[in-house]
Amino acid sequence: MNHEMMDKTFVLNTYARNYVNFKHGINATLFDENGRDYIDFTSGIGVVSVGHGNQRLADAISEQARNLIHTSNLYFIEPQAKLAQKINELVGFEVGVFFGNSGAEANEGAIKLARKYGEKKFDNKKYKILTLEHSFHGRTLTTVKATGQESFHKSFFEPYPEGFAYVKTIDELYDAVDDATVAVMLELVQGEGGVKAFEKQAIQKLAAFLKEKEVLLIIDEVQSGVFRSGEFLATSLYDIEPDIITLAKGLAGGVPIGAVITKHKDIFEAGDHGSTFGGNFLSTRAGLEALDILVGYKESGMLDEALIYFEQKLRSLLESFPTLFESVEGLGLMRGVRCRSADILASIIAKAFENGVLVLKAGKNTLRFLPPLTISKEEIDEGFKRLTSACKTL
Ligand SMILES: *Cc1c(COP(=O)(O)O)cnc(C)c1O
Repeated sequence: MNHEMMDKTFVLNTYARNYVNFKHGINATLFDENGRDYIDFTSGIGVVSVGHGNQRLADAISEQARNLIHTSNLYFIEPQAKLAQKINELVGFEVGVFFGNSGAEANEGAIKLARKYGEKKFDNKKYKILTLEHSFHGRTLTTVKATGQESFHKSFFEPYPEGFAYVKTIDELYDAVDDATVAVMLELVQGEGGVKAFEKQAIQKLAAFLKEKEVLLIIDEVQSGVFRSGEFLATSLYDIEPDIITLAKGLAGGVPIGAVITKHKDIFEAGDHGSTFGGNFLSTRAGLEALDILVGYKESGMLDEALIYFEQKLRSLLESFPTLFESVEGLGLMRGVRCRSADILASIIAKAFENGVLVLKAGKNTLRFLPPLTISKEEIDEGFKRLTSACKTL
């Protein structure tokens, strides 16, 4: 049976897959079963933050796996406590951390925390969560409901949990906040929705308004977090102190993990929330090593160099192909190039693959880039060379 047949026979059909068979990777370069190489501008959708085949991460994981992988949250887990401490240090204000296994699970935790806050702090319970159009918050029933894209709310999954409402723009949030509203949840840079970074001033003004109204601000940094923006949190670039922040994708370099981070340490009590796998030895040891690598990368100036260089390359791509592209979007190494049509985008992604460079789609017409944060100058050069060849064929 060939690979495609095997996959289609035994794996449920939820993804439109490409049947390339990757065997190994080195930093931002992947190799398939025929030894062909590809420059990876996707890092597994923003997950492989420290690159493929990272020796330090692999050593940490294998050492941890030989000692202990999992004991459950009934007992102290040293790397979990250390990772929470490290996150505290990097966030810059005092927070408590809960660990889960994914972005959706982190957002679920954030929503549960907000709901309990809404019960505990007010005479009349507040429960409503406002989110934005084009947002993406996950695939569980609750987080898909929180996602402000109608196309995700398939009728066959109904009924969905109640207590969510959407607005089109940040400005519309001011009128949408009512007596039942407990929180506003948003991405500072919308990822899946089309790589859109919000204005700093608009976010700061909103944060001040919500604080005054005693409405929680939940920032979904599942994609923008863990140095993807150039800082540990995009939140720092916006100079705000949200009530709750969620992380996942890049936090453990590819080992599944999610985190709810909050200033409100007194809301949850033992038994309120939990996870069997969340925060186990393996994922938190991986998280500690990934953060150590990334902090070193940031402090050496190499991360800033990479993101400046990447941006230059994007701008010259835009200049070279004005008939294909209209703008460069996003920040740090969370980038998009807006294409002039959805058809152009689809052709570029296919041609890029043929030319040995992996890129992503976001929204309807955005070519999306989420390279490993450790990508080298040579890999950036090679990736853009291949992408330019692909664009020339259109
Ligand atoms: C990817 C993503 C999620 C969902 O994460 P999963 O790990 O797939 O559950 C949630 N929010 C944002 C902003 C994301 O980019």
